[in-house]
Amino acid sequence: MREPHAASGAGAQALIERARRILRHEQRTGHEDSAVKPGGLASFLARWAEDWVAERSGADGADGADGASLAQALQRQLGDYRTLDPMQRAARVRAALALLDSASAPTSDSRPAAQPAIAAPAAPSSPSPKPPPRTLHPARTAPPVRERDWPLAAPPPKAPELRTRASAIASRAPRPEDAYLLDAPATSIPGVWQPQAPRLARLGVETIRDLLFTFPREHRDYSKLTKIAQAPFDEVVTVMGLIWEVETKRNGPRARTTARISDETGAVRAIWFNQGYLQKQLTPGSYIVMTGVKERFGNRVQFNVRSHELPEQGDLINTGRLTPVYPLTEGLNPKAMRKFVKWAVDHCAPFITDHVPIAVRSRAGLEPLPEAVAQMHFPDGYEQLHAAQRRLAFDELFLIQLGMLTRRANWQDGPPAPALPAPAALIFAEPDLPVRAEDEAATLPQTALWPLSPTRFERTLPFRFTGAQRRAIREILADIATIKPMSRLLQGDVGSGKTVVAAAALLAAAANGYQGALLAPTEILAEQHYRGLARLLEPFGLLTVALTGSQRAKERAAARDALASGQAAVAIGTHALIQEDVAYKRLGLAIVDEQHRFGVEQRNALRQKGLSPHMLVMTATPIPRTLALTLYGDLDVSTLDELPAGRLPIVTRWRAGGQRQEAYHLVESEVAQGRQAYVICPLVEESEALEAKSAIAEYERLRTQVFPHLRLGLAHGQLRPAEKDRVMRQFRDGEIDVLVATAVVEVGVDVPNATVMLIEDADRFGLSQLHQFRGRVGRGSQQSYCYLLSKEASATASERLRTLEATSDGFALAEADLRLRGPGDFFGVRQSGLPELKVASMADTRLMAEARTQAEWLWRADPYLRALEHAPLRERVYLFWRNFAAH
Ligand code: ADP
Ligand code: MG
Repeated sequence: MREPHAASGAGAQALIERARRILRHEQRTGHEDSAVKPGGLASFLARWAEDWVAERSGADGADGADGASLAQALQRQLGDYRTLDPMQRAARVRAALALLDSASAPTSDSRPAAQPAIAAPAAPSSPSPKPPPRTLHPARTAPPVRERDWPLAAPPPKAPELRTRASAIASRAPRPEDAYLLDAPATSIPGVWQPQAPRLARLGVETIRDLLFTFPREHRDYSKLTKIAQAPFDEVVTVMGLIWEVETKRNGPRARTTARISDETGAVRAIWFNQGYLQKQLTPGSYIVMTGVKERFGNRVQFNVRSHELPEQGDLINTGRLTPVYPLTEGLNPKAMRKFVKWAVDHCAPFITDHVPIAVRSRAGLEPLPEAVAQMHFPDGYEQLHAAQRRLAFDELFLIQLGMLTRRANWQDGPPAPALPAPAALIFAEPDLPVRAEDEAATLPQTALWPLSPTRFERTLPFRFTGAQRRAIREILADIATIKPMSRLLQGDVGSGKTVVAAAALLAAAANGYQGALLAPTEILAEQHYRGLARLLEPFGLLTVALTGSQRAKERAAARDALASGQAAVAIGTHALIQEDVAYKRLGLAIVDEQHRFGVEQRNALRQKGLSPHMLVMTATPIPRTLALTLYGDLDVSTLDELPAGRLPIVTRWRAGGQRQEAYHLVESEVAQGRQAYVICPLVEESEALEAKSAIAEYERLRTQVFPHLRLGLAHGQLRPAEKDRVMRQFRDGEIDVLVATAVVEVGVDVPNATVMLIEDADRFGLSQLHQFRGRVGRGSQQSYCYLLSKEASATASERLRTLEATSDGFALAEADLRLRGPGDFFGVRQSGLPELKVASMADTRLMAEARTQAEWLWRADPYLRALEHAPLRERVYLFWRNFAAH
């Protein structure tokens, strides 16, 4: 049978996800109808409904009407949202989320009618149903009775006490051998029979431990019991009452079970579809807790049951409580999954070893792990659930931090780096401390390989350092002055002037007679750095060489010789710099530019050459501070949070749909004045090949129809690197007017003559990434422009794109991005090579800071976790990081 609004297509899933995000945001922001501006939830929903109906009818012709029903159901919940009071709003948002869940998880329990797994084996094939069993009440055969005439259950004299305890705490102290239970296969759980093993395996569950650490996606709040008479219509509620009579009608393969349920306030007719076996299970006279929706059906009232439980038969796990919702796969139904987990929680959770030392737990106010695991599944209440989530989230962040501290210690406790002290007078035009005569006279170290002209670096520049540059340079100089190898990140917005900071560090190394190397991710960026740095270092009489894969053999040999002999002070290049057989006379400083982290492997490669230079990583992706602590937890961070004065802000305009022409006109007129433009193609997430295909089509369209008289170039991710570099070079050298590129293409080239950036489907990129694109223009003295184009003017898109129109501060945008999209979508996080977080959120900056503090504290007390009692923790860190060590 058809799922009424099951959403299987990727487009539908994306729409559901979008709606879900908005609703969650609305929850987080206190139901003030502020999640969507302007227009509020109702207007978001109206637009969403259009998309949804279009998507569903596009996906499958027969589905249009069904598709509409989800939209309608949502509209019923949220159409009058603005007029509701906060409590009602909260309930409606929850109900809407539940609708979305049931639409996106076809096997979830909210759709009992669609669970052949339960219904099929149980539905008797006999066409003539057995007469329903005797009931407590003779009304069974009477014609439909009006609800209010139904007998009311007396106020329950001994209404069952609802048992919702998370776990039966073991009555004896755990013994070490109990841990073996946790490693038993999941199939050893009573009721899990062999065919379910592969299904569980698909969820990553092989052992009982795996099952215990497979946490629910969320909990549905079925904990608040509503009295039947007070239950509002069309909302998900949970009621408890007495079963009076049960009847199942069959119509071919279909079955419809109804039961009359009453409590002291009223009665209601409960309905289940296609679960004929319930006829036997629902014994009149017993209590039932059921979650569902009270609906008007013609002139009758019925209660559409989503899940129910008979509290007298044991602990409540499916309803009447905060009910866990698990990720499911084909053939594994929610009730079965809950039953397995419940068994594991009761029998095995108490034996989980807590790897976090008790001292850390008490410092950070964390509950013990076994208790937290139990509460994660079957919480006693929200407070306990949140405490459990905090505990498990802490664990992940703590393991990340310990891994980071290990990396950093592995680097810093390794062979010492050369001490490279440099007098401030070498770098700064006016050191802001009063200069003492001996400082001023401080001769450069005598070890110099190169007779360095004693010019102050800053005086050779056409500008003065910004305050931020000054600060960053000081931090770097302080680091490299000692033999502890520096590991520092220099982060700064595009155009904040990282290059001169790098140059200052290279100069300090050279002044001590040590070479420096700068590693760039692509050849063209290496060339760019080479030109920039060679010019900056030239006044000091220092030789800079380039070393890349595409060089002619002779040039390359010359560069290598110069490095080996010590004639060259600085080498700029791609990975060739460290991976190949390049020998340095004395390498003292390694700088890595952009994107790719300088990983453990590269460090090891250097160490294997007997080199232990100071290390500086530069990135143009501004990251909120706390996030940097996690993503770059092994590095100290210097931030350039100030742009050089006098920059012309880039004029940013957001245009929806048909207004593309305006942007094209601007491209035309700028090119007519000798400038150049970028066009970033629509994002195709499925695959790089598809994206390349659509970029080629866009390129052809622009070339033949829009700019037939301009010179266009195309760069996408499927081009060979050499080919891509060729196109970028042509653009750099002005042989191309308009560069059409996909988002995957590294456009980090500096082309000061480019003044227009046009981004298609801008609403689908994160703010940080858009900001990166925008930073490709406005690098010269000309006024530059950035057009953000989006097909639709959805409320979220408009909010985000307006933020970008109004803000040119990369850090502010990074914060906004983190807030609006969450860290999963945060530019750079996915590529960061961090272990996957299951519970923790990178947006939880407080917990992140706490984990950092505790990890540092523990590390100081017991570096490398050598102590015996830290062995379990050490093992966890190792396992957690094992797959990521190479990054
Ligand atoms: P990024 O941080 O993006 O690598 P660059 O180092 O390429 O930035 O610098 C961008 C431009 O700003 C360069 O042309 C550089 O000469 C210039 N610049 C750097 N520092 C300053 C400064 N303090 N004042 C003025 N211009 C500066
Ligand atoms: Mg740069």
